[in-house]
Amino acid sequence: MLNLFKDENKGNYCVLVNKQALYESAKVQDIQNVMLVTGQKLSTTELMHIKECWSNVVILFYLDNNDHANDIIQEQLEKVGIWVIDDSFPNPSVMLEEPIDSLEDFISACLIKSQIESELIRDGRIKDRDYTGRCGNCHEPMGEADKYCKFCGTKRGQGRFLPFDNPMYCVYGPPIKTKYKCKNCGTLWLTCALGGGKKASFCPLCGEKKVDLVERKYIDFSSYVCTEEPYDPDNPPTLVTEGQLNKLLAQRNGTADNRGNKALKKMRQAGFDVPDKIDEENSDPKKRYPRTEAEADQLTLVEKILALNGRDQNAYPDVVCDKCGSKHIAAFSYQLLGNHKVVDECMISETNSQDPLILRTSYLIGERDLREERREAFICLQCGHEFGKLTFSRKSKKLLGIDD
Ligand SMILES: [Zn+2]
Ligand SMILES: [Zn+2]
Ligand SMILES: [Zn+2]
Repeated sequence: MLNLFKDENKGNYCVLVNKQALYESAKVQDIQNVMLVTGQKLSTTELMHIKECWSNVVILFYLDNNDHANDIIQEQLEKVGIWVIDDSFPNPSVMLEEPIDSLEDFISACLIKSQIESELIRDGRIKDRDYTGRCGNCHEPMGEADKYCKFCGTKRGQGRFLPFDNPMYCVYGPPIKTKYKCKNCGTLWLTCALGGGKKASFCPLCGEKKVDLVERKYIDFSSYVCTEEPYDPDNPPTLVTEGQLNKLLAQRNGTADNRGNKALKKMRQAGFDVPDKIDEENSDPKKRYPRTEAEADQLTLVEKILALNGRDQNAYPDVVCDKCGSKHIAAFSYQLLGNHKVVDECMISETNSQDPLILRTSYLIGERDLREERREAFICLQCGHEFGKLTFSRKSKKLLGIDD
């Protein structure tokens, strides 16, 4: 055991290696807390020393045939409450881009200080110091054009830049798009996050704490990019013109498979401005799609239009979109599924029409989900606005446990 010392500023971790060559290379890489282990297990003195100095250990063993020292040592460390990352080779759970055939390969592929530390940072075990694209005060991400932090109002480039914890949390919840508007300068911006994410309180351009949350909506991540130019919800754009709507309705093929690239192809045929070749990675914005919030909403709406059943566009002559005034409206119906079988079909809006335009949403709905989600009864086929009120059949009410 050589040169072991406790140094909080270097990060609270040590690296265990099992070969002299690994040890030498770690030193060259300026990995200070490296320990060479030659036996099949740690001695009590070694174990106690590690426990005293570090709470995190990275095991980087190059294993010869049938050597399981890494497993034994991991167990020893975990028993005394030390957090262990085992990056030994071969490790069946690790996918490597380059094949490793020798100790030299292993050293060049796996013994990289920044790689080891990013793993520890990702797990929230050591503190991060990388403030690229982050607020110097609260370390939340900042957009390229942001002059102020949306979360704490600190000016770009200011703050104490202290080391911070950056654990990756697994967030549950549907993807939610949130739109904000600054009451001071009028700036609009969007965030998209699973479960909604953290609420913004400051304007990223003027730094004023006069921010309105103007919209919160469940979205389909596949049609969304988070850096889009938002539109003003008080003045929503027409996403689909009457002519485009009719061309889309004529292209329906009665299957649910009208999403993504298939929807984009039909959009081109219906005269939408969709690039012929879409390259998401391309820095040329003309080659990307969707490029704006309006285009993302347009794609989502088109996918719904292509999934419509029925033909009668006038099944609800008295219904008008209360956002854009359009009379091109479809109603919702729900299939209530239990044990993957349709338990009930619940038509949300009554009509006398034989063949109304209906958006069937049939996914597994927990009893409580449907009540909490409060899906609306109509969808405007020109601006995508969903409005109205849920009404259920007697059978559905019974199934859902809804009393009048
Ligand atoms: Zn901040
Ligand atoms: Zn502002
Ligand atoms: Zn509308």
